[in-house]
Amino acid sequence: MLNELNQIPRGLLELQSHQLADALQGPTLITLQGMREPALFVSVLLHGNETTGWEAVRRLLQDYTPGGGERPLPRTLVLFIGNVDAARHQLRRMDGQPDYNRTWPGGKADACAETRLMDQVTALMRQRGLFASIDIHNNTGLNPHYACVNVVGNSFLRLATLFSRLVIYFIRPRGVQSLAFAEFCPSVTIECGKVGDEAGIRHTQEFVEACLHLHDLPNDTLSHTQVDLFHTVATVKIPAHIEFGFGEHHLLGLDPRLERFNFSELPAGTHWGDVLGEEMPLVVTSESGEIVTSDFFELQQGRLVNRLPVMPSMLTRDERVIRQDCLCYLMERYT
Ligand SMILES: [Zn+2]
Repeated sequence: MLNELNQIPRGLLELQSHQLADALQGPTLITLQGMREPALFVSVLLHGNETTGWEAVRRLLQDYTPGGGERPLPRTLVLFIGNVDAARHQLRRMDGQPDYNRTWPGGKADACAETRLMDQVTALMRQRGLFASIDIHNNTGLNPHYACVNVVGNSFLRLATLFSRLVIYFIRPRGVQSLAFAEFCPSVTIECGKVGDEAGIRHTQEFVEACLHLHDLPNDTLSHTQVDLFHTVATVKIPAHIEFGFGEHHLLGLDPRLERFNFSELPAGTHWGDVLGEEMPLVVTSESGEIVTSDFFELQQGRLVNRLPVMPSMLTRDERVIRQDCLCYLMERYT
């Protein structure tokens, strides 16, 4: 069930993300009238433990009087607050829930309450028409701040580079919010570093505020000096039956310092970890959905190494995230 509001409930901006479930009846869409239309759409907490989006937005809104008054919003804001149940427990999602950023139109998730909810939000926003869409996330590894686009278009890149010159283009996984909204407005997913990082919150607040003040998103071409654009070529997962951990004494013992590989161009033959037995403990899926594990990785006497030069992102030491999402993505420079 989607809850729709046209104002901020009293006291909501004082709450931390884990307290929102008590104040809101589930996922909530809040439309806050501003001076200009069409609206800017912002989604937060699609992953319940990724709090930077809510922190940034509630700080920003404390500086305004949405709906009019002394400090009206420069542009109408539609705020979607996603998985408040998972946020209560500071989890990406609850066991038994689908991932709230895989259930948007175009995804492969089985029809369920969440896919119907995201269908409804998407239909409402498509009908309304949007200035732009921003979906705010954190990640768990050591990563720079970056923006993701699902369309290589000038207005998309313009929006992305307002946040970071590091931009990643991807079309998988399907069912993510920014991919669904890319059909009708410039949209980005932003990755704002680790949860709770003050610099990430401030950067995000400044970015959303800048977007609210923008008159338009120019559609002219960006030069190579304005953007570092990479694209995801594959996703790396650890199959459910493979026991893994960091360090020794695991079927797959990953290098404890793996996170430092994020956004580094790794030469072929780089050591990722050690493997007991003969079975390749990773599955690599290309952007088109093919299994391409042996193109990217091989075992050399129990050492797991990459066969091609690659640039990983989203590597993390959080084993739950690895199980629920993936080990990492592999990227190449987009030209
Ligand atoms: Zn996320």
